Amino acid sequence: MRWGSGPLSLLVAAALLLAGPAAAESGDDYAQARADMVRAVAETTEETAEWIGKTALSPRVMDAMGRVPRHLFVPPDLQDMGYLNRPLPIGYGQTISQPYIVALMTDLLEPEAGDVAFELGTGSSYQAAVLAELVAEVYTVEIVPPLAESAAERLAALGYDNVTVRAGDGYFGWPEHAPFDIIVVTAAASHVPPPLVAQLKPGGRMVIPVGSPFLTQHLLLVEKGEDGGVTSRQILPVLFVPLTGGH
Ligand code: SAH
Repeated sequence: MRWGSGPLSLLVAAALLLAGPAAAESGDDYAQARADMVRAVAETTEETAEWIGKTALSPRVMDAMGRVPRHLFVPPDLQDMGYLNRPLPIGYGQTISQPYIVALMTDLLEPEAGDVAFELGTGSSYQAAVLAELVAEVYTVEIVPPLAESAAERLAALGYDNVTVRAGDGYFGWPEHAPFDIIVVTAAASHVPPPLVAQLKPGGRMVIPVGSPFLTQHLLLVEKGEDGGVTSRQILPVLFVPLTGGH
């Protein structure tokens, strides 16, 4: 049957008419799911208040979480799960982090509008997009070349023109764009990479999961004082895919 002829097309037209206004009202088909995800993040924040020392994350960060279309950062067959408050597989044995963890890490970084940020572990580029909503520039490095490539395409298609993706080993940072106000590491490291400490601006903040692969890891907040002195504190236990590379 050709498009536009017969009773089936009438049914299709009726379905389109019905779907139209509802979709227009909510902005996109996933607006409600996204709002529910932000609520779930708020609930997990309350549940973990003892670890993180606060009952709510910054409204600026929560607003950014409410804007980024997470369903477009997961594989097409998982889109309907895109707003669950859980990590999801993105291929190559890697994962997109749990929304709560992305929100918490972003909040700990205290992003400001003029900041320049570095991310180790682009993955789906969801964390990079959340940061891009909040700072001036994001430089992100991914060690799996096809993931770096698809991330760059996705960010361009969504209009995130303040994010630059590179394929490579993020352990060494990105000296050409250093120093950074913010550094976020989204793969579990056995130690804090010295090149990243060196590329952190005085007054800057880094969030990084440190510990053994697949065993206990702790999210660490590393701060560099205006005098260059470095302090760090453990926030909460987490589980990230391991940092790889030949460094
Ligand atoms: N921030 C990502 C989460 C990605 S999971 C997101 O929002 O989706 C961690 C990513 O770190 C994986 O894609 C993995 O390939 C990458 N990775 C691991 N070791 C790396 C290294 N040394 N340099 C750069 N990327 C690395």
